[in-house]
Amino acid sequence: MSDASDLAAFLERSHDRRMEAYIGLVRIPSVSALPQHADDCRAAAEWLRNDLIASGLEHVTVSETGGHPIVYGDWLHADGAPTAIAYGHYDVQPADPYELWESAPFEPILRDDRLIGRGAEDNKSCVQMHVRAVEALLRTRGRLPVNLKLVFEGEEEIGSPHLDDWLTANRDLLRADVAIISDTDFFEGNRPAICLGVRGSLYAQIDVTGPGRDLHSGTYGGAVANPIQALATIIASLKNPDGRILLPGFYDEVVEISPLERAAIASLPFDEDAYRSSLEVDALAGEPGYTTLERKTARPTLDINGIWGGFTESGAKTIIPAEAHAKLSFRLVPDQRPDTIFAALRDQVRRSTPAGVRVEVEELAKALPTVTPLDHPATQAAARAIEATFGVAPLFYRAGGSVPVTASFADLLDLPVVLMGFAPPNSQAHSPNEWMDLANFETGIRTIALCWDELGRLRPDDLRRRSSGG
Ligand SMILES: [Zn+2]
Repeated sequence: MSDASDLAAFLERSHDRRMEAYIGLVRIPSVSALPQHADDCRAAAEWLRNDLIASGLEHVTVSETGGHPIVYGDWLHADGAPTAIAYGHYDVQPADPYELWESAPFEPILRDDRLIGRGAEDNKSCVQMHVRAVEALLRTRGRLPVNLKLVFEGEEEIGSPHLDDWLTANRDLLRADVAIISDTDFFEGNRPAICLGVRGSLYAQIDVTGPGRDLHSGTYGGAVANPIQALATIIASLKNPDGRILLPGFYDEVVEISPLERAAIASLPFDEDAYRSSLEVDALAGEPGYTTLERKTARPTLDINGIWGGFTESGAKTIIPAEAHAKLSFRLVPDQRPDTIFAALRDQVRRSTPAGVRVEVEELAKALPTVTPLDHPATQAAARAIEATFGVAPLFYRAGGSVPVTASFADLLDLPVVLMGFAPPNSQAHSPNEWMDLANFETGIRTIALCWDELGRLRPDDLRRRSSGG
């Protein structure tokens, strides 16, 4: 029998055992956010340790992080072949509100070829798909086509507070050529899709202070600078009405969207009119020269998130306020760095601050952008695996938001990252009645196995191309 039919026969044979394992993992209420479930998180990690060992992985550890542990296992006998990291997370979101669940969240049920339960999709489905793919390859061939390192985190749903330190401390252990992160959705419906990357972010606050107290605008108006007026001047200096951001050098490091990716974005199923009317706006707005989908995923943006100061009760109070404040956020794209953008913001704010007020700019949060190009060998290997197993070529899109885990692997370990998930966006992850499509679960296992085959045909050098650009 061929490799492929051996694998198919093994998967056929092991179906019931596989479902039992998957359901067993979903039964463990590993809610990372709630202290009363800390033992359950540890139980899920121990459960996975045993699952990895039984599946033939080596050097399996439950590694302490200071929070919920990270489960690690590897198989490193594919001499000369690339080394891949696969990431997933075993923790889940809290299940409340319980009354909206049609079945108990941690007593998963099968219905209409779906598994319904908290974590059934996000992210225990992918964690299990990765383990079962490794198991199937090792049982049928005795070896893997790549060197593989599995990393299953227990704190993704609370912002991965210990992941970066763990990755940094274990840099040697985690040496690799590519990372596959399976924690993203398809773009629309049940058509498979690869997410090419995520935007970064920078969150800041501007504080303007003027006179030591609110002043009578009749007595002092004309003599003293008004902090709210100054804040309006500052904000207006950051962005043109047409959407172009005015910080000097802001676009210098922006990698233009490649013609290949522009074509991929243009072919995504997206009804702009329906989108606009669903948002209840008369017109969409943003940077000239780019489509709406490009602007909201592959171009940098600046938004004012909040603004306050002065008198806001009903009626009139004639004052020059003592202070004014704004919160603002940038979404960033490769190769912009939040630190550089923050320095440019601070300089621009200082330059545009009128005399008579003081200004402070504070950085509140940041995340790096990361994109692995569509024509990167790792992206193409994953795409070939998806097309061969799902019978349809994947769509390619970028996520407009930030997924910090992606930047952790791309930046701290300097790896190209392929974001390959297996669920449609309406799987109700984080919501009541979360479900996983079981046909996708099965096809996903075959896709992952084939993806390792595809990557195994490449040389490590082919994959080490820096993950930037589009
Ligand atoms: Zn997730």
